[in-house]
Amino acid sequence: MFSMLRLKCPRCGEGGLYEKIFTMRKTCPVCGLVYEREEGYFTGAMVVGNMISGIIIAPLTLFLFANGASIMQILLTLSIVGLFLLPLVFWYARALWLYVDFIFNPE
Ligand SMILES: [Zn+2]
Repeated sequence: MFSMLRLKCPRCGEGGLYEKIFTMRKTCPVCGLVYEREEGYFTGAMVVGNMISGIIIAPLTLFLFANGASIMQILLTLSIVGLFLLPLVFWYARALWLYVDFIFNPE
C-alpha cells in the first residue's frame, strides 16, 4: 500500500514506476517486473483517472456553488486545481491499475 503511494513497483516495492514526469518505465529496474504487459494495457487506467478526478472535482464544485461562487470563479478554480491534479491523477491512476492487476494476476 505504501509502495503504491510512493509510486514503487508492486512486486518488490523498490523500483520506481516513472522515469520522467509523464514517462513510465517499461520494467522495474530492481526486479524486472514488466509494467505494461500488453499493448493498450493502461487504457483502463484512464477510467480510474476519470473516477479519481470526479471524486475530487465534484465535491469541490458543489462546495464552491453552495458558497455562492460565480460560474467564472468556479471555472477558474477548477482550471487551477486541474493543472495541479493532472500529474497526480496520471501517476496514481496507472499505479492503482497496476497494483489491482498485480493482486489478481501476479505474473
Ligand atoms: Zn520491482
